[in-house]
Amino acid sequence: MSLRMRLSLRNTLAFRLTLWYAVIFSLSSGIAFLLFYSLVTFIIRDRTDQELIGQARRFATILSTKGAEEVAKDVVIEAQAAGVRKVFFRLLYPNGQTFSSSNMSYWKDIPVNLDAIKQLLQGTSYVIETIVIHDRKQKVRIIYTMLGPGIAIQVGESMEGYSRFLDIFKGILIFTMAFLLLLAAGVGWFMAKRAVSGVGVITHTARKISAGIFEERVPVEDTGDEIDLLARTFNEMLDRIHLLVKEVKEMSDNIAHDLKGPITRIRGAAEVTLTTSHSMGEYENMAASIIEECDRLLGMINTMLMISKTEAGVDTPSLENVDISNLLENTCELFLPGAEDKGISLRCNTPDTIHLNGDVRMIQRMLSNLLDNAIKYTHSGGKVDVSLSDNGSGKILISVSDTGIGISPEELPHIFERFYRGDQSRSTSGIGLGLSLSRAIARAHGGDITVSSAVDKGSTFTVTLPRREAVIGNRS
Ligand code: ADP
Repeated sequence: MSLRMRLSLRNTLAFRLTLWYAVIFSLSSGIAFLLFYSLVTFIIRDRTDQELIGQARRFATILSTKGAEEVAKDVVIEAQAAGVRKVFFRLLYPNGQTFSSSNMSYWKDIPVNLDAIKQLLQGTSYVIETIVIHDRKQKVRIIYTMLGPGIAIQVGESMEGYSRFLDIFKGILIFTMAFLLLLAAGVGWFMAKRAVSGVGVITHTARKISAGIFEERVPVEDTGDEIDLLARTFNEMLDRIHLLVKEVKEMSDNIAHDLKGPITRIRGAAEVTLTTSHSMGEYENMAASIIEECDRLLGMINTMLMISKTEAGVDTPSLENVDISNLLENTCELFLPGAEDKGISLRCNTPDTIHLNGDVRMIQRMLSNLLDNAIKYTHSGGKVDVSLSDNGSGKILISVSDTGIGISPEELPHIFERFYRGDQSRSTSGIGLGLSLSRAIARAHGGDITVSSAVDKGSTFTVTLPRREAVIGNRS
């Protein structure tokens, strides 16, 4: 394995998870083993101490019933029975001198602890100590106690058997721990790899997408876990980006298309005038039509900018208290002559006064767009009704209904898109930005626009706006 591969392996999440898992596992199992080992050691020592105390008590009873000589005989027999290399007994005077003992040839290096005898004389019942015989690497547990007045006893027991048991026990524990640690690292690695495998799939997909395969999606497994959720969210995000890219592409196509017409017309007018006309009047006419076309272009560009800024929250409504009833009346009056000219009856039904917080210029632009469309897409003899109402729960509703050409169900979902124009509308003037701007304005005020329509029967556009507090911001 190369150094780079090893370094990159060390950086992987799976490796770090495994490491954490192994460290935590070994720490906790190490502590558990240590506690267990200490407990076993404590129990063994305690049992030895109890044995030694039991022996001493028996000799104390013999001393009180049969005398010191009997005890002196007994210690020899007792040591031989248990094994002279396992236990020893020393009967001592209060000054520490031995007056009798079991066979001490094996234990000749064990001294008498005078301090212990002193403590016994001061009233301590037992003094217990552990002595290590270094040449033999052997531990001896020793107890001192008074057997009777003027006689103390030193009882010792070799811990060799127990030490051997503890060494074996320790070896088994270390071996088991090492085995479990390896097992834990293996299981941890397997689990970590499994857990992060989903991330690998997502990374793989992201790489493919960045290489240009935009249709690629992460496979979703319906497990309902975090990775599954991440995969779903990732796919949703990709769908959304895909849609946005499509929209941006369509919009740039539309812009190019919509700019091409006026520019071609401007160029055509200039070319024709230059090649054919000579009078000042004709030049003036050309200039006038170029100005007209330029105004249309500027209007379109300004509207596009306004939509973008309003949607992005850059152009925020400058809020003021607006008498919406009055504003609606005035807007209807502006459109009345145009409606009359086309033979359309325009009625405006507004209650006395309804106020809201909003931007007058923006709201007026929105109402104008809706009224303009209603009149534009209604044949002579038709009707346009505008009404204003308060729904009683803090929202006001403005509806613009017409008996015009209507919108087909296929076209309905698209009419708020930028530059979208219905099939039947292509013969009428317009650039397909009016509804996009109107909806951006309504949303910037914390409201929205909905539409219901039937082909050849008419359409109703309903604007909902909050009555007092306007929420300023963009909603996509
Ligand atoms: P424009 O009117 O310039 O085409 P709009 O954004 O205002 O652009 O409207 C988008 C499309 O929605 C229109 O082209 C038309 O097909 C449809 N539309 C809008 N208002 C009406 C209406 N009142 N009646 C029928 N169709 C409508």
